[in-house]
Amino acid sequence: MSVPGDASVRHAELAELVDEANWRYYVLDSPSVSDAEYDGWMRELRELEEAHPSLRTPDSPTQRIGAPISTEFTPVAHLVRMESLDNAFDDEGLVAWQARVERLAEGDPGPYLCELKIDGLALALVYEKGVLVRAATRGDGRMGEDVTPNVRTIRDVPHRLSGDGVPDLVEVRGEVFLPVEGFERVNAQVVEEGRPPFANPRNAAAGSLRQKDPRVTAQRPLEMIVHGVGRWEGVGEPRTQSEVYDTLAALGLPVSDRYRVVPDLEGIRDYITYYGEHRHDPPYEIDGVVVKADRMEVQRELGSTSRAPRWAIAYKYPPQEVNTKLLDIRVGV
Ligand code: NAD
Repeated sequence: MSVPGDASVRHAELAELVDEANWRYYVLDSPSVSDAEYDGWMRELRELEEAHPSLRTPDSPTQRIGAPISTEFTPVAHLVRMESLDNAFDDEGLVAWQARVERLAEGDPGPYLCELKIDGLALALVYEKGVLVRAATRGDGRMGEDVTPNVRTIRDVPHRLSGDGVPDLVEVRGEVFLPVEGFERVNAQVVEEGRPPFANPRNAAAGSLRQKDPRVTAQRPLEMIVHGVGRWEGVGEPRTQSEVYDTLAALGLPVSDRYRVVPDLEGIRDYITYYGEHRHDPPYEIDGVVVKADRMEVQRELGSTSRAPRWAIAYKYPPQEVNTKLLDIRVGV
């Protein structure tokens, strides 16, 4: 069936807007539109592709991850592709995701692991025989940027794994972020140096990590929390996501203690409601909750689409008011 001209034109227009925004966000660390506006464009793109599937070409922004990497860093191929997450913006979206998980899984897919969606940037750490040999940004999911010297300056990231049962090779994924207090300090400093402040902690973290000079990164109070494993070789692989976290913590890696394993949809809803009401309890910014099938067996069974795992969903909270401290800095208060 042919696609009406106005749908094709709007699709091309949106794809161009998204590509430009991706470049500014992922490569320049300096977004020019809000996340809510960006998410609106992506939603409209998906709706157009739902109505006219021939618009869903492999190069559509809905099928891709991140943006091509900057030429400022050495490219690195990820051992296993790094993915994005599908989103739910309301209870209806969450119910639809859980229904799909139930449909695709053999038997009961529960329990589920709920955790915070930290507003930072994704990083992959490779440890060979327990030694940190490489750290790379997500990039386009297949190729990332080598930021190893910069990551070595982050206090939370061990240069060497500890404890018993160190795997021969492990690729750990996690989020690098600036806690709110650290973000405010960094912004005050860049303003003092006569440069424009970062728009939000996520961009400040990305801008701080993606520095040519690791000494600049070393001065930024970056932190990391790990939330997954790409490759695991040598010793027995954990059977659940929660066991992954116990194992990573025992190896000396920074794991959050705010995750919960819940049996069903009601438990997921309770967790989402709790953190919706306690959004500012954690010392870092969150933009939602990530829900994952806890059992690795279910994760393997469900697999991934071209850009995200089917066994996980990011439930996004509504956008927040503009950071008032940042406004204060901008007007020089
Ligand atoms: P995403 O941020 O919606 O979700 C995927 C990422 O979440 C993962 O790569 C991972 O790094 C991170 N994450 C955080 N906590 C996690 C946890 N506990 N478990 C697993 N993953 C966790 O997707 P994305 O592809 O990284 O970025 C898309 C989003 O970025 C958009 O929805 C938009 O909000 C924002 N964006 C904004 C602009 C802009 O111009 N404002 C441009 C591009 C992207």
